[in-house]
Amino acid sequence: MSATVAVTESTMDRDALAQVLLYSGILPTFSLFSRTVERLSPQLRVINYHGVPERFRRDFVSQLRRLRDYAPILHPNELADFHAADQFVSGLRLLLTFDDGLLNHYTVVADCLEDMGLRGLFFIPVGFVDMAARSRSERVSYFRANIRPHWDVRHRWADDLLPMSWEMVRELVERGHAIGSHTWSHQRLGAGLPPSVYRREILEAADRIEDEIGAPLVYFGWPFGDPEAYSSEALTLVRRRHRFGFSTFALPLRPGGDPHLINRVNLEAGFPTARLRLALDGFLDVKMYPRWAGVRRRLALSEKG
Ligand SMILES: [Zn+2]
Repeated sequence: MSATVAVTESTMDRDALAQVLLYSGILPTFSLFSRTVERLSPQLRVINYHGVPERFRRDFVSQLRRLRDYAPILHPNELADFHAADQFVSGLRLLLTFDDGLLNHYTVVADCLEDMGLRGLFFIPVGFVDMAARSRSERVSYFRANIRPHWDVRHRWADDLLPMSWEMVRELVERGHAIGSHTWSHQRLGAGLPPSVYRREILEAADRIEDEIGAPLVYFGWPFGDPEAYSSEALTLVRRRHRFGFSTFALPLRPGGDPHLINRVNLEAGFPTARLRLALDGFLDVKMYPRWAGVRRRLALSEKG
């Protein structure tokens, strides 16, 4: 119960902080500076979402419209071109990703994206999608045990916590979306795990998804957003097996950046506009730089050790 209250309060605090920054003039001033920098050099901001239940559909659509007004949204297949920097000379681009293989990604998100001519990149945990034919309580238990133990407004009712089936995943591919691995069991991939765990979560998960979708699997999305969920052992296998890997420390990608540590900034349906600006204008980058530097040190140190 106390964990629930803490999560709710922390979300409200962040909303309130964003509003204060916006109306005090701090955020607009920062944004002006940030947008000037963006105009001078190409940047890609990859956004990660989690669940988008039906009751958030309208919020999600209006947020997509704001994002589209803010900057061009790339198709996942355009990532390689951006990374190679042979097509974009300046300006900001966005890419939309959706974590955890939820049923509402199929029933809500894909529809909303397609209505606007957009496509997304969906990161799926193999073990969760494998649960699709199991009982409702087993599916919900798997989600709570492996993916998101805490309650929030977008992951509240049993209907919010169900997985897509493999048929739905294949249909998303046919409809032009991209699929990435989100490990086998949404395992934390910090240092010191048995080698067999890294192999199953990274290599075997990628092979399995590839078999299911009948197409090469090139994207990997790290589960969890804390530095302790990263390790050089995992990164070595991510680099070996995937073309692109996505982490969660908010910073934008520039052409030629590390293709296996592409950061993503978190947005969720229902976030107030001020929080969108906080994320997109780079305000969160200031907070994330030291954290990201710590992750990089951690990865480099482990590599030597
Ligand atoms: Zn996840």
